[in-house]
Amino acid sequence: MERFIGIDLGTTYSSVATIDEYGKPVIVKNHNGESLTPSVIYFDEFGNTIVGSEAKELLQSGEENVAMFFKRFMGDDVFRFYAHDREYTAKELSAILLRKLKEDAEEALGGEVRNVVITVPAYFNDLQRSETVSAGVEAGFNVLRIINEPTAAAITYGISRSNNQRLLVYDLGGGTFDVTVLQITPDTIKVLATGGDHELGGKDWDDMLINCIVDQFRTEYGADPTESVEVYNDLAYDCEKLKKQLSSKESATISVRYNGMRGRYTITREKFEELTEAQLRSTKTMTEHVLEEAGLTWADLDGALLVGGSTRMPMVENWVRQMSGKEPLRGVNVDEAVSLGAAIQAGVEMQKRGSFRLGGSTSSNQQFRLVGSKKIVDVMSHSLGAVAVSEDGEKYVNSIIIQKNKPIPVTERKDFLHHTKKRQDNDLEVYLTQGESTEIRDCIVVGKYIFHGIDHISNGETIINIEYSYDENGLIVVNGTQQESHKMLQIEKVPIGDDMGWLYEKPRGKGLPLSIIIAVDLSGSMSGKPMKKAQDAAIEFIKQIDMTVHRIGIMGFANKSKMFCSSTNNQIEAQKAVSRLDCNADGVGYGNSNNPLSDSIDIFASQPDTKNILIILTDGVWSHPKDAIKSSDYCRQVGYEVVAIGFGSADKKFLERISTNSENALMTNLDNLVDSFGSIAQEISQSGGASGLKWNK
Ligand code: AMP
Repeated sequence: MERFIGIDLGTTYSSVATIDEYGKPVIVKNHNGESLTPSVIYFDEFGNTIVGSEAKELLQSGEENVAMFFKRFMGDDVFRFYAHDREYTAKELSAILLRKLKEDAEEALGGEVRNVVITVPAYFNDLQRSETVSAGVEAGFNVLRIINEPTAAAITYGISRSNNQRLLVYDLGGGTFDVTVLQITPDTIKVLATGGDHELGGKDWDDMLINCIVDQFRTEYGADPTESVEVYNDLAYDCEKLKKQLSSKESATISVRYNGMRGRYTITREKFEELTEAQLRSTKTMTEHVLEEAGLTWADLDGALLVGGSTRMPMVENWVRQMSGKEPLRGVNVDEAVSLGAAIQAGVEMQKRGSFRLGGSTSSNQQFRLVGSKKIVDVMSHSLGAVAVSEDGEKYVNSIIIQKNKPIPVTERKDFLHHTKKRQDNDLEVYLTQGESTEIRDCIVVGKYIFHGIDHISNGETIINIEYSYDENGLIVVNGTQQESHKMLQIEKVPIGDDMGWLYEKPRGKGLPLSIIIAVDLSGSMSGKPMKKAQDAAIEFIKQIDMTVHRIGIMGFANKSKMFCSSTNNQIEAQKAVSRLDCNADGVGYGNSNNPLSDSIDIFASQPDTKNILIILTDGVWSHPKDAIKSSDYCRQVGYEVVAIGFGSADKKFLERISTNSENALMTNLDNLVDSFGSIAQEISQSGGASGLKWNK
């Protein structure tokens, strides 16, 4: 039989459990014989680590290079912990902690333990969940599942209960707060709604005590003891102890030594409750919000289950008693309920895989048999959405696809209208979000997904059917199919990128009429067939643009430039101007010394109310490329879009340099010129020259 464990990977303490040979969930003690391992890591100068109580003690004895509370930074790509010139992410720190928990479990259970279920706060987003899975894998585990902490606690509580109950799990740990409403029936444990605060936990109660003590010391001695890291660490340690004492005593005393000064302060429970009233109020507000989302009131509940070390504080118990009018539910150990639930879930997963069976006489153990027969239905506490362009084209918004509190796994389909071009990558980029608001700044962008392999459709418009899912772990899964071809698209998840400022800007060109200048090279080499093809291409382009909205100007350039017609809404006028394009045109010359970008800039500058686009067609190398590049940089700065199409002896690199981006530079040949212009016209007129996304309705 393969061994397995459940891990409650806590902010302040972690705990490990398994199912014993009698089918009973039991805590696996660490190498010190403790049921809880402090989530604390000490690093020595050789990169060796000490994890748990010893690390916590080292911190107290003044050692630096001690990492703790790192769970709060999971999914935060900026956070780094530095020890002896090495840096660690929260995921790496979690992996170190997990590896140690694994080793201790292996020692206790007498053999390798590969399989694990790890718990996470219910409101962990996709980044935080994925990092937890990766940390588990890095630690050498086969991660069977990740499950929500309050659900795990409810499994422990509900597994042996066969009557119908509706309860609220109030889980206040060291660094996080979770509240969950669930329904237990003889066959299921179903989560109805969940919510929480990633940055609220016992540590915040400790911090209030620290502030209070420091204030008193300052008043007494005029000195701030927290200026010494060592004294601060001592104080943090002692204040946590003081807090715990106040859970059983009406008052407790703490002493602070700093630079030869010594202060002794007594804090009453009443004072402590006063100091931390705001923190408790935050949990109340959150609890009421979750009840409201579940459409329930306290009267609809059979009781509240308290989980997490911080629920030992009498203020929590009193409030829950007062609100529910009932005694808080007992029957689980607040510190152990989560890891025991994780172990039960691990047992269920192993059973599903056929790797674990309760055999012989032990199978009569009722508790565990009940587990297997209860279905767990969980929900996600964040809605899943995507960045889209608002109806009026004015801004980017969060468009919700899967509402929060839907039972997982869940899949929703939404279709995207996407523009395609010939002979180009027609990749679609989708940014996924988690959050409830339509405002992007109130949500988290959790991933950028690129859909590859989209075929060009002749009218330039295709529909991409995208399936968005939360899997059973609450992780995001995305699939895409091109509607016309039923082709499954290849999907790549890439880093979001540092510069996401564009999300808060107006989508480029959206909602504005376009003013397009078609600038055609009239140098000597264009005469004859090239000129004829260029004219055909420009005519084709004009036909495809809706000139009731957009305007076109026709420019010819060689040694000088000339407007054959200035910006017009009149299609016939523009077409006539194209037919007059000629290499012998008056005053233009035969060479390549003009810079059409500079002349276009002057024209665009006089048109502030349009989205300005310059399309250059050229067949050769220009005499003053640097001037053109300078003008192109300016265009990029002020938002004039430049598209450069080349053939013959034109230089692709140069075209890329003078275009707004490399996608706007195109090398083609005479025979394809008409098609190339046609697809550019489609792209420009349909997307407004920008790559904003629009839902298909
Ligand atoms: P957990 O993350 O569930 O292990 O909870 C750890 C938190 O519970 C820490 O902030 C502890 O200080 C806190 N805690 C543990 N025991 C008590 C207690 N008796 N009274 C108050 N807080 C406690």
